[in-house]
Amino acid sequence: MTFVAEISKKFTFESAHRLPYVPEGHKCSRLHGHSYCVEIHVRGQVPEATGWVQDFGDLKSAFKPLEDQLDHNYLNEIEGLDNPTSEVLARWIWVRLKDALPLLSAVHVWETCTSGCIYRGEEVDAAS
Ligand SMILES: [Zn+2]
Repeated sequence: MTFVAEISKKFTFESAHRLPYVPEGHKCSRLHGHSYCVEIHVRGQVPEATGWVQDFGDLKSAFKPLEDQLDHNYLNEIEGLDNPTSEVLARWIWVRLKDALPLLSAVHVWETCTSGCIYRGEEVDAAS
């Protein structure tokens, strides 16, 4: 029997950032750091022959080049992350993982233990 499942793998990295577009005096406008946690999700069929959606090692190798860019760096200096909110970071990661992980279903960024963002590849048409 074939069924569908979603697997995920967590990664952690440390980065500095500041949010340039928050109101004056907002604490996030000041330079600070987070211990980020990112969960990469892939969803697909589980064939009887393998019993898995995808090798967890594929997720690890796909995320490694991004981790190298993000870890112990100042996010605002990375192209595409001049306003590094959790939302922008989640989409930034999605765009860079999608080719390597065609079954990608969600990127979940945690910037603190209680605050995070899930991005599932949805875009909004500018005309609507
Ligand atoms: Zn922050």
